[in-house]
Amino acid sequence: MSEIRYDRLHDIHVIIAPERLRHPDDTESFEKVTPEPYSSEPCPFCEGNESMTPPEIYALRNERSFPNDKGWKTRVVPNLFKAVQIETPPNHHCGLFEHWEGFGAHEVIIDTPVHKTSMCEWGEEDVIVWLKTLSQRVSDLRHDHRIVYISLFKNEGKNAGATMSHCHTQLIGLPIIPKSIHELFRRSWEYYHTTSQALMESILSHEEETQSRIIEKVGNFTSFCPYASGYPFEVMISSITKTGQIDTLSSEEVESIASLLVSTFKRLKRQLGIFHFNLWISTPSLNDDIDSSEICRFTIRIMPRLYRHGGFENTTDILINPVSPELAAKLLRESNHE
Ligand SMILES: [Zn+2]
Repeated sequence: MSEIRYDRLHDIHVIIAPERLRHPDDTESFEKVTPEPYSSEPCPFCEGNESMTPPEIYALRNERSFPNDKGWKTRVVPNLFKAVQIETPPNHHCGLFEHWEGFGAHEVIIDTPVHKTSMCEWGEEDVIVWLKTLSQRVSDLRHDHRIVYISLFKNEGKNAGATMSHCHTQLIGLPIIPKSIHELFRRSWEYYHTTSQALMESILSHEEETQSRIIEKVGNFTSFCPYASGYPFEVMISSITKTGQIDTLSSEEVESIASLLVSTFKRLKRQLGIFHFNLWISTPSLNDDIDSSEICRFTIRIMPRLYRHGGFENTTDILINPVSPELAAKLLRESNHE
């Protein structure tokens, strides 16, 4: 039987509709993704092809290597097809047709020097250098007080909107706070004010009681399928108690996340085969006076893109998910990936 569930975190509804699957226990009914065809074109993101990208903003490099040359673990370059640019003055024009000139940061983080095309191929060390790089970029951009919000996300595979197959992450820093982020923070603050507990901490302690949607725990972090998952096999990784944000995590916390993320992708791969997904790392706004670490938790949200959205989803903001998060979590828990 289907259920209309309320997502308290994001303030939206989703419809969990297992009847829409031909075989509820059978992931064969998903649209299969085939491997990317081999391309003879050189890849601008591979080590050795540094001249094919704009000059680097930052790179995690071996000591004896030089900028824009070989010898890096991760590399950050401006997005060639940028949505906003840092050189534009952050002018704000009021009136009926209010707008800001297109000021902001739009960077591409090249996650790995070798041509890996999926996070499913990553080891823990890959995740650690990736998190260190994101941390460094957020920490650096905090000094630019014109930027008040930074979005960190990955699109992997064309069903998720990616145009480059080499693993990469995007960073967009903006002079405005997106409404959904502002509202998320407001709801989290109101909840904390009423209950003296972070909303995510309450959610996780309820999940802990039932265990039905929890996949795995490592250190202070839990992976679970959210109660109102909008996407089949959606997984959230969250800190249980207060931690820092991306640029203030301890090395122990980074190691826990690396272990959990590698394990999560192995489990997903075991269930789904090759799959496309969006990944989002939570980042509160940069200029809040309130210490958001009390109110928010560090979270990573993985949204597999197994189905295309149609008119209903686009016009109502209500997602239909044919795989219950309870079934997804059970299958992922049982995925022996060793
Ligand atoms: Zn490549």
